[in-house]
Amino acid sequence: MPKGSVAITTERCKGCGFCVEFCPTHGLELSSAFNAKGYHPPHMISAEKCSGCNLCGMYCPDFAIFGYKYPANKAKGEAA
Ligand code: SF4
Ligand code: SF4
Repeated sequence: MPKGSVAITTERCKGCGFCVEFCPTHGLELSSAFNAKGYHPPHMISAEKCSGCNLCGMYCPDFAIFGYKYPANKAKGEAA
């Protein structure tokens, strides 16, 4: 089970790739799709690897992504 996930606001993204580069679990890549500004926003390729560490959010210059941790019981796969 993943320990966390990310929220991505694709329209804020400028496609710099910092989030992809700095994700310690290599869970992100830039999409082949474009947003309205013509940039490629990130998407998760390995959701199960995400720790919710929010390094992606700390490196994003445009506040377009942030990571969050699941509550401990959800991370263990138990009902909330
Ligand atoms: S929260 Fe951490 S593990 Fe998840 S995508 Fe962002 S940098 Fe990667
Ligand atoms: S760091 Fe932010 S602006 Fe750069 S590609 Fe990732 S989400 Fe987009």
